[in-house]
Amino acid sequence: MRAATALFSNGGAGMSDRPVVGRFAPSPSGRMHLGNIYTAVMSWLSAKSRGGRWILRVEDLDPQRSKPEHARVIEDDLLWLGLEWDEGGLSGRGPAGPYVQSLRHEIYAGGLRRLEAAGLTYRCRCRRADILATQAPHESDGRVIYKGTCRPPRLGGTAEIPGDAPAAIRLFVPDKTMTFTDRLRGPQSVNLAAHCGDFILRRADGAWAYQLAVVMDDALMGVTEVVRGEDLLLSAAQQIYLYELLGYPVPEFAHLPLVCNDQGVRLSKRDSSLGMEALRATHTPAELLGRVAALAGLIPAPAPVTLRELLALAQPD
Ligand code: GLU
Repeated sequence: MRAATALFSNGGAGMSDRPVVGRFAPSPSGRMHLGNIYTAVMSWLSAKSRGGRWILRVEDLDPQRSKPEHARVIEDDLLWLGLEWDEGGLSGRGPAGPYVQSLRHEIYAGGLRRLEAAGLTYRCRCRRADILATQAPHESDGRVIYKGTCRPPRLGGTAEIPGDAPAAIRLFVPDKTMTFTDRLRGPQSVNLAAHCGDFILRRADGAWAYQLAVVMDDALMGVTEVVRGEDLLLSAAQQIYLYELLGYPVPEFAHLPLVCNDQGVRLSKRDSSLGMEALRATHTPAELLGRVAALAGLIPAPAPVTLRELLALAQPD
């Protein structure tokens, strides 16, 4: 796996002048696995090696998959490893709470109102299946690129779709290329129209979309660096676009290589042998930290290591 030690380098992307605030934002849809732990440890180390704060945010927007008991177990697993958060978690300690997304409805509604008032949104009743049916085969990598079926003819137009059935709310997305420098992946350039098209801010069932929630949360919680898995690299472009529209400072991004199982497939919550239940049964915290440190390239091979020792290895050069 590609080393992630560049995370601790001071070169490359411009470091912001704001006090460093990092975060870990798990979705409580099951027990964490080695990949989630890798993200947690690396985001903690990145923030702490710069004297920063580390926030734990519970991303439970998906009402079908999220369960409070999973969030409690995530907290327990983090504390078992010695990863303590300065702010957030279920108890909501800190000035920017609540830190549980399902409790932040009013905040997201406020952001949506601003985008609506700027004439940047519209209502859409297309179903996912219909949208998928209009996709060209080469686009079928899981991403849904909306072709603008419900898009009114002009920005801020009043074209209201008839009927009372619940509608999703989408954001107008221009044919604009977003550029940013990822601390690990280097310069990135993503055309929004080609990558995602007009994307959803609020689903027809009322659930808030990840992209709006994550931007508002990171901005209002003062997050200066977003360290997370590479599967979200392209989402950063959508998020930077939202930061700009909402007038928030853009954090730095660092997208970590994904941890794979023995078959070379990205870990999922179904890979129970690398899930926290199995890992806690077979490792001490120091052994598991050593495994993570070896994945990151901080030590040459897995060997027990403490968080304090890792912090010494992760000092910015
Ligand atoms: N909640 C997301 C996940 O668990 C992470 C989102 C993020 O870090 O921006 O995959």
